[in-house]
This record gives sequence, structure tokens and C-alpha cells, in this order.
Amino acid sequence: MPWIPRGLRNGIVTSRYPQSQDAYGENFEAAMVIRPRQYDPTIAKKVVSACPTNAISFDDAILSLDRGRCILCGRCEELYPEVFQFDPDYETASVDRGQLVVPYLEETDSLIARTRNELAQRVKALKRSVHIRHIDMGSDGAEEWEVAALTNPVYDVQRLGIYFTASPRHADLLLVTGVGTVGMVASLQKTLDSMPDPKVVVAAGVDAISGGLIGRGYASNGGISEIVRVDVFVPGSPPTPFGLLYGILLATARIPQSRTGSSGSNSLITGTPLRQADIGRPGADGYLSEEGQ
Ligand code: SF4
Repeated sequence: MPWIPRGLRNGIVTSRYPQSQDAYGENFEAAMVIRPRQYDPTIAKKVVSACPTNAISFDDAILSLDRGRCILCGRCEELYPEVFQFDPDYETASVDRGQLVVPYLEETDSLIARTRNELAQRVKALKRSVHIRHIDMGSDGAEEWEVAALTNPVYDVQRLGIYFTASPRHADLLLVTGVGTVGMVASLQKTLDSMPDPKVVVAAGVDAISGGLIGRGYASNGGISEIVRVDVFVPGSPPTPFGLLYGILLATARIPQSRTGSSGSNSLITGTPLRQADIGRPGADGYLSEEGQ
């Protein structure tokens, strides 16, 4: 039984996230960021046309990037490394689709706060445990690998009272991956209708948000936003397990309002470590936290 000495040698491998961030996340290429600067219009236009999902736009000398479309292929970074850069910050999920466009517009702050408050009111009843029903709406399988990783010993989401269930009747949260395949629309609707209230929907990955590389077509709805109401958008192709976990905690109002993800900055963004106080007790803004469940 070689796993006994190995286990003793390795000690505890489980992440302490979201109580504190750890080294596991530092190596992820979790998001693309744009450095604010004077842009060279020739290179900027080249980058716009090189992006395979039309995630980049260049209007009025301003470059912007829609993370809800970015499949993290890295072409923009290759062409214009002075401006585009991979970032390890995985806290990119948002309750507002518009907030996935970076640089982020501060004018939307109040709108986002309101949306988060409404969501928090709705999910108040989801306290000690959250059950997730995952549904694949035409995924390439990448997201499923990351979703499956959530239950391994490193991420171990059960420690946070988060469980996966096969039955929609036991589920509080619908986690959707894939491009929104036309043939699956009825199944998605049926699954959602079978879930008891309160329920929340998380679109996991750019395929579910915008259709990704496939986009909209005869077999794809270009994401699920027009089929069901989405509460939280988790960008990434695929999102990392920490990114997914952040989105799930956001959907169940367990991330304090004071804590905005990486979309909440206007410049080159790096992750801000979660403060123990943020997650350790009910926040001043009334959000649930680990001890306050
Ligand atoms: S990394 Fe994203 S934004 Fe950059 S070219 Fe690829 S899809 Fe477009």
C-alpha cells in the first residue's frame, strides 16, 4: 500500500481557498488582461482581426477585451505582448455579463451591487449545503475536467458544504457548460423547472456564455443566456477549478460585496488575497460566509 507513506510524506494537500489563496493558483493562465497605454493602431487592428472569437475591439483608440468570448488562445499576447498578458487571477466570474469586458467600467458598480443584493436575498435559504446539478449543453469536454477536479482532494468542495447531485429535484444550483446546443434546450428547461426554489444558474466557460469558437449556428444558441436566465458568468476556456469555485460562491452569496473579482479593476490586474475576516464571519454587508452559514 504505497499510498500510506506517500500520504504521510505529502501531508495535507487540500487547498484552503477561499479562506486564503494558495500556491496552486499561481501558475494558471486564468485570464487575459490589457495593460493601459497608448496603443499602436496598426498592431491593435492586427490583433483585432487575429482574435478567433472577436473578443477584442478597438474603438476610439481604446482597446477592450470581452472575457465572455476569450478562449485564452494567446494569439493577442504573441502579437502585442506589451499590451496583452495572461494573468493568474481566477476570480473573474461576475453577476453581470457586461462586467466581463475589460478594462472594466466603474459606472456599472452600482448596478452590480444591486444585482448581487437581489441574488443574496434570493439565495438566503441556501445555507449549510448547496447541491449542484451539472448539465452539459454541448461542451468540448474541457470544462468537465475542471468541474470533476472540484471534488478531488486538492479542491475538495465538500469541505464547504458543496455537493453534486444527479437529481435536479435535490439541486439548488444549475451549473451549465457547453454552447447551448439546440437539441438540449428542452432538457435544460426541464431540468430547471424540476429544481425547487430558490435556484441559481451558473454559465461555466465561454462556450456557455457566448458559444466560444462555435458561436451561434444552426445547432448552437451561442451560449445559454437567451435560453435561461443566467445569474453568474464564469469566463475561461475552460475556467480553472478555483475560477469555478469562485463563481459558485458568488452565486450563493458567499463572497462579500467588499470583495470584487479581477474584473473590478481598471488596470493590469493581479489577484488580491482574500482576507480571513472576509470569509470567516458574516460580512457587514450581510453576505453569508463559512462560519456564518
Ligand atoms: S487570447 Fe482571447 S482575446 Fe486573445 S486572441 Fe485569443 S481569444 Fe482573442
